[in-house]
Amino acid sequence: MISMVGTLKRPPMDIIIVCHTEFGFVHRREVIFDKGSTSGVEIGVRNLARVAATYGARVTFAVCPEVVGFFPTDTGHEVGLHLHPGWVEWKHKGFRWHVGDSYIKKAVKQSVNSTVLKDYPYEEQLEMIKAGKQLLEAKFGTRTRVFVAGRWSVNNDTMAALIETGFTHDCSAVPHSKATHFDWSKLPRICMPYHPGKQNYQARGNLPLLFVPVSRMWLGGAASPEVATVWGLSWIKACFREYHKLGLPLFHVCLHSPSMTDPYFVAVLDELLRFISKHDVAFKFASEIKEYDRTVPGNRISPYLLGVNRNMMMTCARACGTKALRKGRR
Ligand SMILES: [Zn+2]
Repeated sequence: MISMVGTLKRPPMDIIIVCHTEFGFVHRREVIFDKGSTSGVEIGVRNLARVAATYGARVTFAVCPEVVGFFPTDTGHEVGLHLHPGWVEWKHKGFRWHVGDSYIKKAVKQSVNSTVLKDYPYEEQLEMIKAGKQLLEAKFGTRTRVFVAGRWSVNNDTMAALIETGFTHDCSAVPHSKATHFDWSKLPRICMPYHPGKQNYQARGNLPLLFVPVSRMWLGGAASPEVATVWGLSWIKACFREYHKLGLPLFHVCLHSPSMTDPYFVAVLDELLRFISKHDVAFKFASEIKEYDRTVPGNRISPYLLGVNRNMMMTCARACGTKALRKGRR
């Protein structure tokens, strides 16, 4: 007879979906953040809410202040703040648009013109965050507790400003990655929520703000339907399987609302949620997440063997080709 002593059923895995809610559309399976297209909010939000409803999923919409007039007030989902400072022209694939937020631009005087919060002094970050929060709370009548920084960029001042303005959760971390405009390199690829320390937003401490990093795929980027063109849906599923097999308590999916105007990305999300919901999971809002006390093991690569697909093979081949080219040029 097998003894059941010491066999504890683990709680369901929490799933959060955080949607950066902004203007734009999809062109050849790429999101173009053109402010002339309100469909990224009006249609994208509706489509995402519809897919989520099929699986009883909850969505945290991190809403840009400038799109508030186009965001439906009756989604039944959570509203957080997504903030793009500055006002800089962007060009991509023959399209031009401005990165920034027209509401924040008018509401708060900015001493520099940068698209990332970390370039602004504390006082200005504080004023921008405060202005965005006040607008959302006046419009939706609920307390705004979740924050997502535009272009994933925060620093210690952002963290202090968020605490000062009463935010409890931040979903801006893309663990183990770094670019000129953000730095999350100190976090391991698989990183569960943590309270940061005062001196370093990437180190554990006891500040009253919870960083909830996005889930990241082995080799690839964030777990998002938008990367299916690059890594394939099966690779994103493999990422979920990895987290689930490791017994991790949270899987965090992120996306941008304009992607949900496109049938391809809607279908990818639908299939991903169908797959996830077959497991023992609990869909939650980001603000419902607390720090977990379960220990976190390293990583598990085996689920990815089943996830090998054409898109990711092409991506790897391209990456290898670029490396070889670079070597050849030296
Ligand atoms: Zn954004």
